[in-house]
Amino acid sequence: MIVGQPNRVTHILNMSVMNFSILILALVAGATILGFAFIRRDARRYSLALLSERTCPRCGVVYGAETANSAVLLKYRWRLAPTHSTADLNLSRENFLMTCPRCHEEFEFTMDAQLFVHPHVGILSFTKTATPMAPGLPEQNRAIIAAASASH
Ligand SMILES: [Zn+2]
Repeated sequence: MIVGQPNRVTHILNMSVMNFSILILALVAGATILGFAFIRRDARRYSLALLSERTCPRCGVVYGAETANSAVLLKYRWRLAPTHSTADLNLSRENFLMTCPRCHEEFEFTMDAQLFVHPHVGILSFTKTATPMAPGLPEQNRAIIAAASASH
């Protein structure tokens, strides 16, 4: 019993150290994922702030914060022809779809607020998912857009 005791204690201790490490790792991983999600969310909001100042390519009206706030996030998965890359085709994984408040024409913009034009060569197929941007957070978006606009 006495001989066996320290082994059991060490065994239990080792297990708890391992469990503790796993717990810490899980917490760090969770915090990292959450951190990236926040960074990406802020990056998207920054893009919306830039887009609110862009003009409609068709009629020239300034989009404004309201239009930026109702932008639709488009996520792409591209399947490219063998000799092409996303870089040489200038493809983005995420774009914003903006609907003009005056002429109602829809245009797609990249995350750095450049007009996105679908390439006609190099793409075998693609899938696209559309998500309305931050539903339920209009006030927060407006505040960030206003702050970004004020800093210019
Ligand atoms: Zn327009």
